[in-house]
Amino acid sequence: GTNTKVIDGKAVSKQIRDEITAEVSRMKEAIGVIPGLAVILVGDRKDSATYVRNKKKACESVGINSLEVRLAEDSTEEEVLKHISGYNDDPSVHGILVQLPLPSHMNEQNVLNAVRIEKDVDGFHPLNIGRLAMRGREPLFVPCTPKGCIELLHRHGISIKGKRAVVIGRSNIVGMPAALLLQREDATVTVVHSRTNNPEEIIKQADIIISAVGQPNMVRGSWIKTGAVIIDVGINPVEDPNSPRGYRLVGDVCYEEAVEVASAVTPVPGGVGPMTIAMLLQNTLISAKRMHNFE
Ligand code: NDP
Repeated sequence: GTNTKVIDGKAVSKQIRDEITAEVSRMKEAIGVIPGLAVILVGDRKDSATYVRNKKKACESVGINSLEVRLAEDSTEEEVLKHISGYNDDPSVHGILVQLPLPSHMNEQNVLNAVRIEKDVDGFHPLNIGRLAMRGREPLFVPCTPKGCIELLHRHGISIKGKRAVVIGRSNIVGMPAALLLQREDATVTVVHSRTNNPEEIIKQADIIISAVGQPNMVRGSWIKTGAVIIDVGINPVEDPNSPRGYRLVGDVCYEEAVEVASAVTPVPGGVGPMTIAMLLQNTLISAKRMHNFE
């Protein structure tokens, strides 16, 4: 409808990056420490290379040091573990990120478990996830994409407490931690996944929808309650002969239909995407501050 708010993730993430820039320079002046993020990229997946390049650029733009190691597709798990161990011991590194997915001959669990929990800026270590799930416990880091979703709600003054929230998707990196976070924020949370019966019926009850599925335009306008808030994490390429690349990106939610019923909705691109990187920078800053007792 005419009152539907478009949640501008690009603008919010810019604001957050400006805040981080100021904090990084304050820290450098006060104690001479520059936060550092180390990224490990294995193999030559184009999308992974793009993500890593964007993360590096984002670090530079706020004054965070970025270190990077690129390993060949046929590297061994031991080599990856060796680099992780080096970064674990390196005092100039405050965050370590292993770009996923790893080549199939490696055990993702072994690799992620090797990252020192104090440097786990992705928040994927089972101890961090476990603490996120437990009442009265605090994770050292919250996974970036779900954290970005909640930050968007907060910064738009959308209250979560007591609301009925539906998360679509239950992956370890987005859906599951998003559901845990919403519950920590006192929402009543339902998780919809590929085996859910009558997903429309459940989604229609939501005051807040976070969708992380990976199916273009799956959620239709008729599935959405009037006035609901929609956070669309999905990034899905669809063929588009009018676009110079031959494709364009759309979300999981049919945007044109959603704007007619929702009270607020994130666009794709320009919604959750830029927030994810901003949260990674924020987690790296948090880590550096914590390691140096800097407030
Ligand atoms: P996964 O493929 O790991 O998980 C997808 C989830 O969606 C699974 O839990 C799956 O269920 C569920 N699902 C699949 N089909 C359906 C369906 N028809 N109905 C209901 N649920 C379904 O994906 P990710 O969580 O890694 O990513 C999800 C999307 O978010 C992708 O488009 C990805 O590109 C995007 N993404 C965006 C980021 C950002 O920064 N904006 C960051 C990370 C991801 P089941 O568990 O039963 O298989």
